[in-house]
Amino acid sequence: MKFEACPVCGSKSIEKQVTPEIFEYKGHQKTIDGCEKIVCKDCEEAFFTDETSKRNEKIIRDFHREIDGLLTSNQIVKIRKSLAFTQTAFGELLGGGSKAFAKYESCLLTQSRAMDNLIRMVDAVPGAIEFLRDREATKNVPFKKVSVVYLNAARPADVPKSDYNVTHLTLNSQLGRASCEDLDDNLKSVGVS
Ligand SMILES: [Zn+2]
Repeated sequence: MKFEACPVCGSKSIEKQVTPEIFEYKGHQKTIDGCEKIVCKDCEEAFFTDETSKRNEKIIRDFHREIDGLLTSNQIVKIRKSLAFTQTAFGELLGGGSKAFAKYESCLLTQSRAMDNLIRMVDAVPGAIEFLRDREATKNVPFKKVSVVYLNAARPADVPKSDYNVTHLTLNSQLGRASCEDLDDNLKSVGVS
């Protein structure tokens, strides 16, 4: 917003000032220098310029993170880079979504405590990233693939008479069973486990 008049009283007697401002959060204070604001000489209201508001928002978000015991934007960047991830890949692996880290790191969004814990964990615990990568690699396979030898009687004509992989849905269908949960029992019932 460009100020040409005071938004409160309409006075055109306004001036720009640059001063330090003190912000408070949960009993803690932070001083931000160089805050540009428009001050009305008539009603004495003051308004931050857009530039100052945007800049302060970022500083204040990190200030809140510190007080709340969460990683700051710089700490998040440092961890992500130390693990050699792009913002997109890190968000996708950790579950925040592809845009999450761009937002955390530019202070548009504060990470949840759960995400904060996860970031700290993949940073501190050896093997944690590999664990998530392994999970990621298999998560879109809805059912465990099983190696099945069909009994002759159960084997459809168009299915080769050999070991092969099927999903348990296919298996259940071949066995005429409705329930997916019966997989283990089905396997046992045809002598495969
Ligand atoms: Zn005014």
